[in-house]
Amino acid sequence: MKQMLGLKYRLNPTPQQAARLRVLAGHSRFVWNQALAECLAARERGERVPRYGTMAGWITAWKRQDATAFLTEAYTDNLQQKLRDLDTAWQRHFTPGLAADAPRFKKKGKSRDAIRFVNFPKYCRLDHRRVKLPAGLGWVRFRQSRPVVGKITSCTVGLDGGHWHISFQVEIEVAESPRHPATSAVGLDMGVVHFAVDSNGTAYAGRNSFRQIEKRIATAQRQLKHKVRFSQNWKKQKARITRLHQTAANARRDTLHKLSTAISQNHAMVAVEDLRVRNMSASAKGTLATPGNRVKQKAGLNKAILDQGWFEFRRQLGYKQTWRGGLLIAVPARHTSQTCPECGHVAAGNRPSRATFRCQACDHTAHADVVGARNVLARAHEQLSGQGLPVAPVK
Ligand SMILES: [Zn+2]
Repeated sequence: MKQMLGLKYRLNPTPQQAARLRVLAGHSRFVWNQALAECLAARERGERVPRYGTMAGWITAWKRQDATAFLTEAYTDNLQQKLRDLDTAWQRHFTPGLAADAPRFKKKGKSRDAIRFVNFPKYCRLDHRRVKLPAGLGWVRFRQSRPVVGKITSCTVGLDGGHWHISFQVEIEVAESPRHPATSAVGLDMGVVHFAVDSNGTAYAGRNSFRQIEKRIATAQRQLKHKVRFSQNWKKQKARITRLHQTAANARRDTLHKLSTAISQNHAMVAVEDLRVRNMSASAKGTLATPGNRVKQKAGLNKAILDQGWFEFRRQLGYKQTWRGGLLIAVPARHTSQTCPECGHVAAGNRPSRATFRCQACDHTAHADVVGARNVLARAHEQLSGQGLPVAPVK
């Protein structure tokens, strides 16, 4: 069985290579925006949004026009890739149920500038700590913080946090149906106070580990206010803030990986609540006609979910379980915190406070998060037995 994986590293281009990368990123952005404008114009005229086949022809036309002749120096494969991405973005937008936003214009510095190199085996080469890239880049060094495993199919070079990074998309072969070494199952309750609590009563720390860096970000933000907008010092301070955010993001990802690995190694089945951040965000805002209730609390919770990286965590758990032959099951989250795991009594009154659970029927008392986790696990067992078949792992 083949599995795709992205491996990201810090790229160390020479000043010349960095300049070339900026030009290539500019071309990508230009082509995306130009094509998007054409698409919007077509929509305005009441026509259908053009598909990739049509858009691909535009590149040749633009190269012939004086104003856009600079595209002759572009890396055509990447431009085509951008148009494919745009086509995909539109198709996602038109798919009912996905609720994907329409594609937007990319702004310099604001959007993630990325250049994609497809067909890696044909056009690129890897040699220890450097990678050979086409489009006039040549050998570029990168910081190999962990080994590159698997067969590289393509790679993406992007600028974030003021640094260039390279992501290799690799294909790895995993055993057809590996058998998970553990036999235990665990339920997880994702929380705001603790990152997660499992059904055995273990709490996993979350955000507290980032308090330090968050403080530094807050201080840096305050200092920014005292600087003259767009002055050299202001720009420097801006860059400092971006770097701090990057450090925070790395630390967070690292923590999530450690946690998802540990949980996946120890349990053959992991059950989680089925959270959909999109729905939750929507319910927080509501619509003009029917504004959502408890908007503030929900918005706060949404931010916490995004900050804590629950979705990234779930994604990691999903593929790590697949590797090991385990399962990740998502269950409906409804009433998990109000149902008694001992007698099944469901009542809001079972939850006298945020942290405590006391069943009004049988007097079972426990920490509310542990109760949530036990219920999540119980529901996963129900799902499995109810269908008489193992449920497909969550993607
Ligand atoms: Zn009870």
